[in-house]
Amino acid sequence: MQVVKVDIDTAAPLHPEASILIIYTGGTVGMVFDEKEQHLVPFNFSQITEHVPELRQFNYLLTVLSIEPAIDSSNVSVQDWLMLARLIEENYEKYDGFVVLHGTDTMAYSASAMSYLLENLQKSVIFTGAQVPIGRIRTDARENLITALQIAATKEQGRSVVPEVCIYFRNLLLRGNRSKKVESSHFDAFKSDNYPPLAETGIELDFSFESILPYPQQPFRVHHALNDKVAILKLFPGITAHVVQSILQAPGLQGLVLETFGSGNAPTVPWFLELLQEAIGRGILILNVSQCDEGRVDQGRYETSKYLLNMGVIGGADITTEAAISKLMYVLAHEELSHQERERLLQQNLRGEISL
Ligand code: ASP
Repeated sequence: MQVVKVDIDTAAPLHPEASILIIYTGGTVGMVFDEKEQHLVPFNFSQITEHVPELRQFNYLLTVLSIEPAIDSSNVSVQDWLMLARLIEENYEKYDGFVVLHGTDTMAYSASAMSYLLENLQKSVIFTGAQVPIGRIRTDARENLITALQIAATKEQGRSVVPEVCIYFRNLLLRGNRSKKVESSHFDAFKSDNYPPLAETGIELDFSFESILPYPQQPFRVHHALNDKVAILKLFPGITAHVVQSILQAPGLQGLVLETFGSGNAPTVPWFLELLQEAIGRGILILNVSQCDEGRVDQGRYETSKYLLNMGVIGGADITTEAAISKLMYVLAHEELSHQERERLLQQNLRGEISL
């Protein structure tokens, strides 16, 4: 893998109003149709202004870093997330904001992971992409990219207005670790049911200042580790002991996101409770996340969740599965912490991912 750099000064000969680093990782957004091969291929991102000539109207200094070969986001890995965090760290002082072009399929996972890796973020990191490739006439890439750049460049009194990792898509700016991909064909691909949008765009960019995280007082800090010894177990009526057991006994497993019913409810059959109890006894951290898109886990409200509470399953409140799995990876990577300290971190609101 290599990173190719191109500078585009849309302000020259004037002094640029803002400098933005665009990191192109791959996905539909950067595809054009190859007439000869009759399929979509990644285009050379240095030619971005040919596809989006409107960029020339900005007074920005844009630098594009393209990851080559481009990653279809279904292939994104923990190593890619760490590499992205490192790229942002290395360029943090030089730019006013960051736009990450990424496939939509796993964008919510990547944005969640970045929110944990980038602590005390004082600048915008806006993920965006497209449902229709940039080379197509009806592409949504142009509007998504242009507005993401504008948001990343927006400052008030010299400070970024949105010091967060976000997803901008269609007309919504969402907190990254509150987002989910909910559409595979329409343009409004992302939702954040448990948290209001940070901005809505129409004629104006309309920011909801009360929903945006406060500007951090502590220095920016990048984390360089995630622990991938984790799994997600989605419950369903009829799930067998064999399936639950094979996941809980996966070699090296240290953390599990348990996707439960409603407000955090699970079967009460003895084999199920015994398997969970035995896993907790081995030190596995289990985070209870609801299968519902709205509402929250409230362990103890029903008998079917009281058992979980009593045995030490951690309630995930209103976290998304996408944020829960990266929160587990982040917390488990802190090897210096005790088991209790990790449990406590999982219950805390670390980056605006849960409402307590
Ligand atoms: N498969 C593509 C990806 O996630 C889809 C997209 O970009 O929308 O990389």
